[in-house]
Amino acid sequence: MSSDATDPVTLGHRIRHHRLERGLTLDDLGTRVGLAGSQLSLIENGKREPRLSQLGELAQALDVSLATLLDSAPPSPRAALEIELDRAQRSALYSSLALPRVKPTKGMADDALTALVGLHRELQRRASDAIATPEEARRANTELRAWMRARNNYLPDIDALAEKQIKAAGHSVGAVTHRTVSIMAERLGFQLIYVNDLPHSTRSVTDLANGRIYLPPASIPGGHGLRAMALQAMAHRLLDHERPASYAEFLQQRLEINYFSAACLMPRTAAVEFLAKAKKDRNLAVEDFRDAFGVTHEAAALRMTNLATSTLDMPLHFLRVDEDGAIAKAYENDGLPLPTDVTGAVEGQILCRRWSARAAFDRTNRTTELYQYTDTPAGTFWCATQTGTTSDGEFSISVGVPFAQAKWFRGRETTARAVSTCPDPSCCKTPRPEQAERWADQAWPSARLHAHVLSPLPSGTFPGVDDAEVYAFLERHEGE
Ligand SMILES: [Zn+2]
Repeated sequence: MSSDATDPVTLGHRIRHHRLERGLTLDDLGTRVGLAGSQLSLIENGKREPRLSQLGELAQALDVSLATLLDSAPPSPRAALEIELDRAQRSALYSSLALPRVKPTKGMADDALTALVGLHRELQRRASDAIATPEEARRANTELRAWMRARNNYLPDIDALAEKQIKAAGHSVGAVTHRTVSIMAERLGFQLIYVNDLPHSTRSVTDLANGRIYLPPASIPGGHGLRAMALQAMAHRLLDHERPASYAEFLQQRLEINYFSAACLMPRTAAVEFLAKAKKDRNLAVEDFRDAFGVTHEAAALRMTNLATSTLDMPLHFLRVDEDGAIAKAYENDGLPLPTDVTGAVEGQILCRRWSARAAFDRTNRTTELYQYTDTPAGTFWCATQTGTTSDGEFSISVGVPFAQAKWFRGRETTARAVSTCPDPSCCKTPRPEQAERWADQAWPSARLHAHVLSPLPSGTFPGVDDAEVYAFLERHEGE
């Protein structure tokens, strides 16, 4: 018996339903089971729970089985509405409005009842939408990052599940193919279907009734993205995800499906073998790992953060930074001093201009990774940075380690070295005094609307404009 079955309101509705079906009044039925009509009324209204012995007598008097009375389903569509209205009116949300409770009488039209229930549903939907404010989203994201950091970004259970699944789909060595992904889907009872008209707000849509996973067209360049999206959609099923009840739960699920997808495309056993050998050869490089498994640079870099600490005994950091210097994604368990806002969030924060994650944008040759040592107030770090371009502009992907760990990586012999004193504003956030004196009254920049809604605007002489950047630009072009 589920706990739903004992819900007194549903039970009361079921008793009333069968009583009326038999044309009995409250007193008629009450007499047969030794209860006053008024007591029976309380039971039917869900205000009193009958004892088990009374339930047996009621079932007998109504000529139905006890199981029929205890069924958790409402006895009729009308009863379903009445039960839903009763629940909604008892919720904390409705109570907070201090409005009277409406009792659905026999005379109330179905339309009126349907309208009331519909309004309650909408009220509830809006209330849960309102919880997901940007502030809440940022807090939830920060908590999740701390949770992952405590686990060294490693989720062994999901790794084990992913390896089992791709093995069962016939994968043995090399990059995971689209074919393997399709077989995995079939084994789960799903067909992958590529469509041109996915809703703009979705990455994929799963039709549980018909066993279909809808994905964007297969003609999109970059097969990795497609395999990853199909795997992510399947992961919701394999990880028994329920509809997320909060923004935090939504983020946790998204993290888990991304993790699962990466763990399928770069299976733990093969990935650790590859990385351990590269480390032994002192030739670790994200680009080699990327090419060996046929994934994007970002996917390979993130996957390294899953496995490096737990299996190679190496703390490290990952950064995805946009061309304007704002952090899009970051992870560290090596003490890299990331900029944070008051809530502890790093997303949208402007990174030190001296770090390789930003210095890489100034290079002319971007086909190879930029290797750089950076001295920070928290010690010296070695980083490898690769830049890329999307329709939103340029971005850089960096993986780095504390100085002592650089010896395992290709590019450790680099002579590129920078000094960062951030968060000290004189490091890179404010113009040099002689520059400011010369340009403060001579520069007239017009601000571009910032791409990151969540991030704070750089504050300069002009709102939204970075003075240091503008002055350096003017001087660079002065002699032309
Ligand atoms: Zn700086």
